[in-house]
Amino acid sequence: MTATAHIVPNRIDIIGEELAIAWNDGQESFFTLESLRRVCPCAVCQGEADVLGSVERPDRTFQANSFQLQSLHSVGGYALQPLWQDGHSTGLFSFSYLRQLDSRPGEAVDPA
Ligand SMILES: [Zn+2]
Repeated sequence: MTATAHIVPNRIDIIGEELAIAWNDGQESFFTLESLRRVCPCAVCQGEADVLGSVERPDRTFQANSFQLQSLHSVGGYALQPLWQDGHSTGLFSFSYLRQLDSRPGEAVDPA
């Protein structure tokens, strides 16, 4: 068993416009809701690769309520699934994905 195999949130809080996660290894992560929505990993947001491996990025338009949470669900003990107020809910943020995001704060994931 590796050190990162069972890292899960001990506590999850929404504080204003931020999601705060206290992990069971003692680390704390803070994400703005807007930054999370912008890196939503679902196929609708990130595009799906075709058979040649090229990815067509869909045009995404956000509204003010795209960055506000309706609710947040825990899925299968490995991911969080936000329901955004604009109705979008297909993004699954795995705990390992969240930890990856947290290890490069401020870095834009989407070069566009
Ligand atoms: Zn999405």
